[in-house]
Amino acid sequence: MQKVKINFLGAAGTVTGSKFYLETAELNIMVDCGMFQGVKELRENNWQPLTIDASKIDLVLLTHGHLDHTGYLPRLKKEGFQGKIIGTSPTLAITEIILRDSAKIHEEEAEKANKDGFSKHSPAQPFYTLKDVEKTLVHFESQEEEQWEQISENIKFRFVANGHIIGSCFIELDIFGKLFVFSGDIGRQKDYLLPPPKSPKWADYLFIESTYGHKLHPEENVEGILVKLITDTINQRGNLIIPSFAVERLQSLMFVLWKLYKKNQIPNIPIFIDSPMGNNVLSVFENFPKWHKLPISEYEAMCNHMTIISSYRDTWKTIDNPRPKIVIAGSGMVTGGRVLTYLQQLLDVATTIVLLVGYQAEGTRGRLLLEGTHELKIYGKYYPVKCKIHHFESLSAHADQKELIDWMSTIKNIPEQVFLIHGEPTSLNGFRVKIEDTYGWKTHIPSLYEEIEIMIP
Ligand SMILES: [Zn+2]
Repeated sequence: MQKVKINFLGAAGTVTGSKFYLETAELNIMVDCGMFQGVKELRENNWQPLTIDASKIDLVLLTHGHLDHTGYLPRLKKEGFQGKIIGTSPTLAITEIILRDSAKIHEEEAEKANKDGFSKHSPAQPFYTLKDVEKTLVHFESQEEEQWEQISENIKFRFVANGHIIGSCFIELDIFGKLFVFSGDIGRQKDYLLPPPKSPKWADYLFIESTYGHKLHPEENVEGILVKLITDTINQRGNLIIPSFAVERLQSLMFVLWKLYKKNQIPNIPIFIDSPMGNNVLSVFENFPKWHKLPISEYEAMCNHMTIISSYRDTWKTIDNPRPKIVIAGSGMVTGGRVLTYLQQLLDVATTIVLLVGYQAEGTRGRLLLEGTHELKIYGKYYPVKCKIHHFESLSAHADQKELIDWMSTIKNIPEQVFLIHGEPTSLNGFRVKIEDTYGWKTHIPSLYEEIEIMIP
């Protein structure tokens, strides 16, 4: 009899903080090592010491590079972690970009808190620093997709692409002959840049994400709406501002605009890309052509067609440029980034259109704009909102309920247990009912910090 002890250290009963710890007689493995994000009660979990001993972890396996799956790594290192951090090459490249950006924000926030004296701790300490990130990067080790890697006598694993972002995978972990499958975040069947997700053939224990477990993405004519918004922008001599996430969303938007221009559906309107992190992510697309559908010649033509802004001075030049134009700038939910500078100048102009893309979480400026707020607070000052607001719901990097159910349909056996993770309570419950009705499989929704023991004969 072999025992596998599982600790749900994040993304249990919630979406962020993905961290799953598996203790076995041979190795101790962590799957993902994410940070909690969103409302304050959740974020405070980041500051709690781990309930496990970080120095005992032999390896961390990463499903993909997003902050809510990797953002805790430098803290893990600070807590004594000495093992390996394994991901596909593009996942490690994205992780590095995201961790560096995150450290910069933590350092700036701590500095600001100390200057303004609003921190409860004095002096305020950053969650981690760039130096901590450097110390973490030396543990990185890449692994090819679809190749089994034997890591101890009775444990092996492999990564299989799942179409969520560049490099993203689900993980199959064979532990004493039982297959533990961690879905990671599952992508869409139809994506502009990524091939459709592959899916597992077998799973004894399935850990599946449930972000959209209770709903379907709406059918939207993304290209048609974009053509209309761009035509309006040109006719009114205005600005189309698109706040965007730096990873994947930005590249998808660039691609759609490029495609519309190439097909002669939009005129040659200047397009500016203003997102320092987004530019770094673009280079990951360039370095890993096997991981996406965009041929390198197309990629180059697309980038050449747009102006990529790197300095803050050019941000101002772009704002002062009176020609009608499109600007894509971070961040996606208008919580920070360069887009704030554009909005400060252009929110109160009737010819401005702000196009919000994807989920806008409660408490963000993006959500306020969606709800029709008449003024928006940016850096302590209120700006009247006179522009038009539009919203795309469908350009999501996450599978919806139907796509999740289809993804599981290739599993030939009846799993001994399905763990529903990475979802808000309503989606978790909706998904649980749907899985039970569709397949009759045994499900469990673990709570945060729950510990489960699985006995393997
Ligand atoms: Zn993700």
